[in-house]
Amino acid sequence: MDFCNSELIQYFQSKFTKGNEKDCWVWQGAFNQLTPIVNWKKKKCSALGLAFFVANHVKPGKSIRRSCNNFTCVNPAHLYLVTDEMLSPRYIDRFWKGIVRGVGATCWEWVGRKHWGYGFFKYGRKTVKAHRFSFMLHGGILDGDKPFVLHKCNNRGCCNPSHLYAGNQKQNMRDKYTAGTQRGENHPQCKLSSQDITDIRESSATISTLAKEYMMSESYMWQIKKFKARVDK
Ligand SMILES: [Zn+2]
Ligand SMILES: [Zn+2]
Repeated sequence: MDFCNSELIQYFQSKFTKGNEKDCWVWQGAFNQLTPIVNWKKKKCSALGLAFFVANHVKPGKSIRRSCNNFTCVNPAHLYLVTDEMLSPRYIDRFWKGIVRGVGATCWEWVGRKHWGYGFFKYGRKTVKAHRFSFMLHGGILDGDKPFVLHKCNNRGCCNPSHLYAGNQKQNMRDKYTAGTQRGENHPQCKLSSQDITDIRESSATISTLAKEYMMSESYMWQIKKFKARVDK
């Protein structure tokens, strides 16, 4: 993707006809076995990688899969990335069902379960913030220096990967503040739903991870786990 420029993108886009989000966009360019490839000025790259990059402005990190199983398709809405953490394509299918994608550069709103504006997504025995899942799904890289996924758009419910970036704790606090939230998050009156309580009790994640996910204190998470709090459920 290093040689990606507007000329290449134009050439790439001349090799298929854009349809709507549901239809497959059939590749009319070259193939390397079953993989559509772009042959441009003696350079070669994967048409899928390029389709993904053009649509999401994110370099695909790991392998790209298609939800439609049509090997000629380059519709970015049918493409997704797989990382080790995301165990099965069925989670990914379910994840996409939780999102309403805007057109162009608009926010992709999470319509599934939410707390304080953040989307939450459960896969396997894990629950993560939906925008964090989206970031990883689109090949975003998190490390010890930048472990948080933050919003450029200040919309907590947004999962558009081009509105997300990796940041440190300081930026994370600023992000929360800008999004106008800080207030009341750790307040005991800010109650968790019964479903949350069930999720927390079933989760294999550590207390400190859960506390971060639900933005509650570790001691409160522990009390929930040990049935010392919220025994109503
Ligand atoms: Zn397709
Ligand atoms: Zn956004």
